[in-house]
Amino acid sequence: MLAFQKTDAAYGLARMEAAAPVVAAGDDILIAVEAVGICGSDVHAYEWTDGYQFLATHLPRTLGHEVSGRVVDTGKDVVGFAPGDRVVVAPVVVCGHCSACRIGQPQFCANRSIVGFHRDGAFAERVVVPAANCFRLPDGVDAELGALIEPLCVAGNAVDVAAVQWGDRVIVMGAGPIGVGIAWLARRAGATSVLLIGKDDGARLAAARRLGLERTLDLDEDGDANVTALLGGEADIVFEATGVPESIEAGLGWLRPGGVLVATGIHARPVQFDLTRFVRLKQQLRAAYDSSPATFARMLSILAENGEALRAMITHRLPLAATLEGFEIAASRQALKVMLLADSDRAVTP
Ligand SMILES: [Zn+2]
Ligand SMILES: [Zn+2]
Repeated sequence: MLAFQKTDAAYGLARMEAAAPVVAAGDDILIAVEAVGICGSDVHAYEWTDGYQFLATHLPRTLGHEVSGRVVDTGKDVVGFAPGDRVVVAPVVVCGHCSACRIGQPQFCANRSIVGFHRDGAFAERVVVPAANCFRLPDGVDAELGALIEPLCVAGNAVDVAAVQWGDRVIVMGAGPIGVGIAWLARRAGATSVLLIGKDDGARLAAARRLGLERTLDLDEDGDANVTALLGGEADIVFEATGVPESIEAGLGWLRPGGVLVATGIHARPVQFDLTRFVRLKQQLRAAYDSSPATFARMLSILAENGEALRAMITHRLPLAATLEGFEIAASRQALKVMLLADSDRAVTP
């Protein structure tokens, strides 16, 4: 089958004819990929930027974790799924027996592995995942909308970590899919004023405005002098979704005393900020990373009700065979979300 693999600890991705995976464990589900999104983390792995060196010991590896598709085969212990079912995949696989898993906090599993990084992912025609990671797609949510669920869950988890409340003023730094998802969900959580800030991000901010996020600012064009004026005051909550270390100190500067900054970016360098000012203002710094099965269940209902509004996040659609082209588009910052769609006419050769 066609698969796009990271083969070397260097820039790029290889187009391969790989053996199609098969159901091996009793709880495995074999999925025919219908739609798979390119994530910022995939682009980092593609470009081989700092922060992804852990992958070096997992090569060769098929990337891809924002996937929806159709069940083809199930292991003997799988209940509740059958061939033909339309599913989305939660990419974090947990062990179920470590102390965190046993107390119902799988997001802190000591033995977690991620589909598309630690195990083969979905830039391919077929992918195998545990049944526990599959969620049935509601009717009316098609494959490409389904493949948006993973980044939306990462965004939704960040909104939960921040504990956004109605009436809040919120700044979101970073105009990629996570930042845009956070801004959209913060509005739904009741924030009255949400300002989305990008940097040299004209195309992505324009896409965000098509999602109804009308307050946007491009630091390269507009500078940062008017941030609090545009917001209507200091921020109650700032989200950092840039991966640029300097954005932490900038964000703390716009945050009110006692406000919360939630960092979600993967930073290739350490962060410096004025800790004394931070302490005197009694600000809070929190981290949000990935999400939980509960977030997936909640996000399915958001997608079922608001799918057409969220479809505007998908700015580029390409066939799976054009994955490498898709990566170049994603790396160019011109896209909000690049979605790869299976070519239904292509026969799968095992
Ligand atoms: Zn992702
Ligand atoms: Zn565990």
